[in-house]
Amino acid sequence: MTTLNLQSLQHDPLIQSLQRYQEIFWFKPERYSIDVGLAQVGLTLQDVEDAEARLSRFAPYLAQVFPETRRTFGKIESELVHIPTMQKTLSEPLQREQSGAWYLKKDSHLPISGSIKARGGIYEVLAHAEKLALQAGILKLDDDYRQLDSDKAREFFQDYQIAVGSTGNLGLSIGIMSAQLGFRVSVHMSADARQWKKDKLRALGVNVVEYASDYGVAVEEGRKVAEQDPNCFFIDDENSTTLFLGYAVAGLRLKQQLIEQQVQVDADHPLFVYLPCGVGGGPGGVTFGLKLAFGEHVHCIFAEPTHSPCMLLGIYTGLHDQIAVNDIGIDNKTVADGLAVGRPSGFVGRAMEKLIDAYYSIDDQRLFNLIALLNQTENIQLEPSAVAGMMGPIHIHNQPEYLELHQISMRQLAQATHIVWATGGGMVPQDEMQKYLSLGI
Ligand SMILES: *Cc1c(COP(=O)(O)O)cnc(C)c1O
Repeated sequence: MTTLNLQSLQHDPLIQSLQRYQEIFWFKPERYSIDVGLAQVGLTLQDVEDAEARLSRFAPYLAQVFPETRRTFGKIESELVHIPTMQKTLSEPLQREQSGAWYLKKDSHLPISGSIKARGGIYEVLAHAEKLALQAGILKLDDDYRQLDSDKAREFFQDYQIAVGSTGNLGLSIGIMSAQLGFRVSVHMSADARQWKKDKLRALGVNVVEYASDYGVAVEEGRKVAEQDPNCFFIDDENSTTLFLGYAVAGLRLKQQLIEQQVQVDADHPLFVYLPCGVGGGPGGVTFGLKLAFGEHVHCIFAEPTHSPCMLLGIYTGLHDQIAVNDIGIDNKTVADGLAVGRPSGFVGRAMEKLIDAYYSIDDQRLFNLIALLNQTENIQLEPSAVAGMMGPIHIHNQPEYLELHQISMRQLAQATHIVWATGGGMVPQDEMQKYLSLGI
């Protein structure tokens, strides 16, 4: 980032709004065809289907070692539920019959680790374990993977280490899965990480390394330590296509889920999906899967805290991971710990910029208010990061320029399906949840 660039940014009205921590909504003024968007990703439907097949190979093993996945036969999947009371309350200012149908995608309650990271994080650990076991000849592709639940397999994985940097939930997912397989595992936690997540990991024998600084530093330090051990595999949240593909599987599965619930998606029934964004891998991967599944009929909108709008900044400036929110004087301090990321993934921003339809930022206090409101109206408990998508439908109704760009009529909008992607909260301890709820007004 040159000083010249930074100086010209100081006069940009959108940058000035970000610097004042205002809530904003932004989208690129161009509309790209779905083919152009998908071609830029560098990954294909085949890659996502391979990921789904790998998860299926592991499903019997997962069902055996994590009883909470037995109900779904070892498939790590979440419910899609109606939130009519929340919709009614939040959409009061709109004409109700126009507000479409609102759903919550409860990744917050995914088995094993209670957040969206149970998709990408666990998938990458499984992919790595499979690769090592195949290479060593202790596993074949058509074997029953339940044999990995044995002392022999665990002793094998003991020789290998896995490391990751995290604000909490990724560390939780990777720590739990790696420890279960028998890996040695180190989780490098940023200052944002909640104490209960560190305690839980330590109880499983995970090496938790704590940093007083933010996510970027935890990742960098984790990477450095990992490089010193040739048997250590560093899971790179900022650049990993494996993580990304683990998330992308969700998009294909959502298609099936909507068919089962008889929800139509086409030009007259657009689908809007609102995704909380940290470094970008989770929402980016899910968006890739959704675009493969629904093409131009799905609109994917990213939500970030006003204090950490890193993806918005990276895409808006075209600088991706070459700019961090601190560069324009934003502090990256937010109650939404899962989204407390100051510098976006360079891979996701560059690969996905023509597929992500819009971006908005949301104030911390509003996150608390939404958590409290969702608890009152639907009796669903989420962590602050996880409700960031909840303002999405309201934004879309107030954006005539967006609707015009995509040629969506009011009639079509009234028939739309809105999915708020709830990304975490299922494992938050009771007392911690009460604290969150008490902060809402
Ligand atoms: C990690 C996380 C996200 C965002 O995922 P990224 O891959 O960091 O963009 C959203 N919500 C919660 C609760 C998370 O833990």
